[in-house]
Amino acid sequence: MTDPFWQTKSLAEMTRQEWESLCDGCAKCCLHKFIDDEDIDEGNDLQPTDFMADNEQMVYSNIVCHLLNDKTCQCTKYNQRTKLVPDCVQLTQENLDDVFFMPPSCTYRRLKEGKGLPSWHPLLHKGKKSAMHKAGMSVRGKVISDAEVDLDFFEDYIVRWPLNSVD
Ligand code: SF4
Ligand code: SF4
Repeated sequence: MTDPFWQTKSLAEMTRQEWESLCDGCAKCCLHKFIDDEDIDEGNDLQPTDFMADNEQMVYSNIVCHLLNDKTCQCTKYNQRTKLVPDCVQLTQENLDDVFFMPPSCTYRRLKEGKGLPSWHPLLHKGKKSAMHKAGMSVRGKVISDAEVDLDFFEDYIVRWPLNSVD
């Protein structure tokens, strides 16, 4: 049997279809997240992310984009997402360095770090997401829509579970 493409090709070498199929559909990338920088003045220490320095770390909330269906973990407006939500992260083969903004369990980040696919990945389960949900690696059942919260109170929603990564 031939080895699967994710073991034989680099992320940059994959076809568009292969690349798209790697997404586990966890929707962790649809969570609101900020960078925590120890050097920034007190009272203004959480900033929207567009870059990250060595002394900074990603802080996740359980607040999710209002366009996400929190049961299926799918975007309800996928084709219009970047227009409707300018902050929507679109990871492509052209901006691979941005993969480090993704959570540790993100397939693209795992492959970039040489970790391979986790045992719960849908590609190893005939495309089904149930093993991923069961492993607690998706946002299902853990989030609140950004349409229902005041983002000024972001700190009340900080969580650590998006940083978990189960092999
Ligand atoms: S975190 Fe990565 S693997 Fe999960 S949905 Fe987002 S892009 Fe896909
Ligand atoms: S627009 Fe869709 S893909 Fe983008 S963050 Fe919102 S739910 Fe996720």
